Amino acid sequence: MTTGVTVSVPAKVNVQLAVGPLRPDGYHDLANVFLAVGLYDRVTAAPADTLRITCTGPGAGQVPLDRSNLAARAAVLLAARHGRPPAVHLHIDKDIPVAGGMAGGSADAAGALLACDALWGTGATRQELLGLGAELGSDVPFSLLGGAALGRGRGERLTPLDVGGRFHWVFALADGGLSTPEVYRECDRLRGGPPAASRVPEPEPEPALLAALAGGDAPALAAVLAGGTNDLQPAALSLRPALRHTLDTGLAAGALAGIVSGSGPTCAFLAKDAEAAHALAEALEASGTCRAARVTTGPAPGARIV
Ligand code: ATP
Repeated sequence: MTTGVTVSVPAKVNVQLAVGPLRPDGYHDLANVFLAVGLYDRVTAAPADTLRITCTGPGAGQVPLDRSNLAARAAVLLAARHGRPPAVHLHIDKDIPVAGGMAGGSADAAGALLACDALWGTGATRQELLGLGAELGSDVPFSLLGGAALGRGRGERLTPLDVGGRFHWVFALADGGLSTPEVYRECDRLRGGPPAASRVPEPEPEPALLAALAGGDAPALAAVLAGGTNDLQPAALSLRPALRHTLDTGLAAGALAGIVSGSGPTCAFLAKDAEAAHALAEALEASGTCRAARVTTGPAPGARIV
């Protein structure tokens, strides 16, 4: 009997998310500095007669179990490219918050690509998997890659970045998610709507931020984060004003810096060391300004078979 193939895939935080002008096609060019962090979804691909999806873990109830699931779409795409039916049972064991701005769905798509490739013996190259990932969503290639990377275009054209140390993070998880397209729409609205939103400067990575990552220098990274590196943060705060309290609580409890993670509503706090991170998580949980707080580190490895 063939057993399943399990892949572990990390969440990400955008240490920079510079959002460029609104393009005529409705998308935005980005300068996106991704850092993979140690919260993982596990995707298991097992033999089955037809495509079937199951999901367990926190927030599993909000994950679609039909072909709109990003993991299902990944299996369908890989199967189509290799002229075979997408017959597989995909089980997602979720730990990445759903609709939390940490690329959980993208992680599952990356996990499904790798797991199905191994289960079916399709023998896709790394380059092919990255290309299929980019077709599925702009964050999927990074979920395959892990570590840290600069994403240009819609975020999918990746250049790996050097990271000179381990950063300690606390993630404050919120009740309920935020819709990424809605957060982008709010960002454009706050910029004055079209055509004003089409006239903002082209996004560029922050040299001081890349230097702080390369040096593994948490205080230097915090100084850049404090200057505002997430262009979606004002929009997320506008849609969910209570996140301001979460950020203030984390900063008052000793975080070096606090930002909204991607499109939110998860908030990411940088801590000095592991001890400070645990104290910060306790303070955040005690404050009642988040549903739960999770301590972890980054960079973390990309999708890999376990
Ligand atoms: P990002 O940070 O990439 O913008 P996110 O982390 O905010 O995304 P996801 O957890 O990826 O959000 O989920 C966004 C929506 O996608 C969910 O509300 C859900 O309806 C849908 N979805 C489809 N497939 C999945 C999946 N495998 N896991 C979670 N959500 C999924």
